[in-house]
Amino acid sequence: MQTTNDTLALIGNTPLVRLKGPSEAAGAEIFAKCEFTNPGASVKDRAALFIVQDAEARGLLQPGGTIVEGTAGNTGIGLALVANAKGYRTIIVMPETQSREKMDTLRALGAELVLVPAAPYSNPGHFVHTSRRIAEETPGAVWANQFDNIANRRAHIVGTSSEIWGQMEGRIDGFTCAAGTGGTIAGVGLGLKERDPKVTIALTDPHGAALYEYYANGELKSEGSSVAEGIGQGRITANLEGAPIDTQFRVSDEEGLEWMRRLLAEEGLCLGLSSGINVAGAVRLARQLGAGSRVVTILCDTGFRYLSTLYDRDWLTAKGLSVPAALAPR
Ligand code: PMP
Repeated sequence: MQTTNDTLALIGNTPLVRLKGPSEAAGAEIFAKCEFTNPGASVKDRAALFIVQDAEARGLLQPGGTIVEGTAGNTGIGLALVANAKGYRTIIVMPETQSREKMDTLRALGAELVLVPAAPYSNPGHFVHTSRRIAEETPGAVWANQFDNIANRRAHIVGTSSEIWGQMEGRIDGFTCAAGTGGTIAGVGLGLKERDPKVTIALTDPHGAALYEYYANGELKSEGSSVAEGIGQGRITANLEGAPIDTQFRVSDEEGLEWMRRLLAEEGLCLGLSSGINVAGAVRLARQLGAGSRVVTILCDTGFRYLSTLYDRDWLTAKGLSVPAALAPR
């Protein structure tokens, strides 16, 4: 491999791995994009890089400028890394309910962290609105606006979907993942459909999100709740507009946790819950598409980001979630 002095070139071109347990369970071939291998350990490094490059190209970001964003954490981590590599400042607004590890990571990366109480999107104190206000009030600042800035999904049209198509050698029957901003599902969906309109694109929604009902019945309606961070959308963001969704699944936290734990115990992959939920969706999609079908999903981020939550016995118990044998008292 040649050397590079561009650390940002390390974003993307992630490996695609065949998952043994899920493939066996579905009687199909299930592959997953290892997004935890990005420098910021999540899929959001891709969107962060495209958003910053887009702001530069538009002349919105000048040397020494500031990037402001509201994020569940991973986009903030990606933005902070890209900003450090390019000499910008970052101000990250995050709901105080996100994992401790994400907050510590952001501080360690040098981001200025603003924590706000979790609030519905309609509340002006919601982290997204707060971040927009801070960007407006800060001289030389640009608002990344990952939810409605389609530079986000372009990262997945240009990058992720092309990589998947190449790695699958053009033989792919279905793709599924959950949506936070919707950048991944919409971008990969659009990119794959352009190459082969017969590829089935499925949305996998956690409980508490409104997109399952929207794609099934045209109504934005949610039911229940989820502890998964970074996914679960209640509106059609600009990134989701025109997303080519053919079918949809709703996956519970317990179903996602089961796959998350199996992938760790049986395949040595330490992942977050959105990855477990995505794999549960991939198993359902592959069963629907039939024996031998080839389905791709996303492993969004590393489980090391959730040691104090998803991998902590007391936290799981407090949330009323099952505790795996590995975490049981000895
Ligand atoms: N999983 C995790 C852990 C995330 O942080 C995100 C980003 N919010 C997603 C999945 C969903 O990605 P997207 O924003 O592209 O829909």
